[in-house]
Amino acid sequence: YKAKAGGTGHHVYRSSDDSHGDARLRTVQELRLAIHEDQLVLHYQPKIDLPTGQVNCVEALVRWQHPARGLLQPGQFLDLVEESGLMHAMTHVVLDKALDQAALWRAEGHPLAVAVNLSARSLLDAELPARVRAQLSSRGLPTSALTLEITEEFLLNDRERAQEILTQLRETGIRIAVDDFGTGYSSLAYLRDLPIDELKLDRSFIMPMADDARAAALVSSIVDLAHSLGMSAVAEGVEDAVAYDELVRYGCDQAQGFHLSRPLPVADLDAWLLLRRAAVATA
Ligand code: C2E
Ligand code: MG
Ligand code: MG
Ligand code: MG
Repeated sequence: YKAKAGGTGHHVYRSSDDSHGDARLRTVQELRLAIHEDQLVLHYQPKIDLPTGQVNCVEALVRWQHPARGLLQPGQFLDLVEESGLMHAMTHVVLDKALDQAALWRAEGHPLAVAVNLSARSLLDAELPARVRAQLSSRGLPTSALTLEITEEFLLNDRERAQEILTQLRETGIRIAVDDFGTGYSSLAYLRDLPIDELKLDRSFIMPMADDARAAALVSSIVDLAHSLGMSAVAEGVEDAVAYDELVRYGCDQAQGFHLSRPLPVADLDAWLLLRRAAVATA
């Protein structure tokens, strides 16, 4: 895992730093506690349908409500989760929380799908497809309520295994999105072979669009590429109205970004959604 987003937070622990062995041990123990004693919280960022402005899906983004250090961002602790072998446990907790919330929204009459990020490692867990199915069905959720966001890194490492696991997940009706599309080192060939529903254009393509014609051309072409392969195109990192309007013009299907909403705790998101539904209804 490479911490790309945020970038502002310091790392709780660096593997290169041996002199902090004790600190590391303490942090791993804290992390284990955090996972099992409910210190992980999910914030949700809406994925806006273009051009209607409706919201049918939100992305779940994990945070660690640390008892002493406050709210930690994923860039501050995901490396440690990977290195300490706690990723399967964290993924399970994150899926439980996200699907609980999806079931709650459904019960409240506003069925929202949730998108959950999966690390390359958690996808290699052979039991994942069966477990995710069970997590959905125990809550009476349709498989369409879940999108799994995966990175190109996963597709790169073991193509055959990736194909097998993605096919199993996809056959059940779960949507598969490729996150940070365009930033990995993989070849485009996987787009031909793998069962993918959605390409999420990395924000490094979106942010320079306004003042860079070539960046804009690239975005427009990736949107077309997605469509010609029967996939939908989602833009992340939409930070201003100019980018938003361009994406509408290119026929991009969904947009996410600070211009629309930051990732929010559930209560704030619910309030945001209320306003948004009213705005969409009167538009
Ligand atoms: P991601 O899946 O690509 O998520 C998008 C990141 O970009 C989020 O950072 C989000 O807050 C940020 N973002 C959204 N809109 C904008 C914008 O307009 N401008 C800018 N500059 N940034 C924006 P966050 O929440 O810090 O997450 C970082 C990464 O951590 C995620 O990138 C994802 O790869 C990983 N991650 C988050 N939650 C989970 C999780 O539950 N499991 C796993 N395995 N990874 C997770
Ligand atoms: Mg994501
Ligand atoms: Mg992304
Ligand atoms: Mg990204």
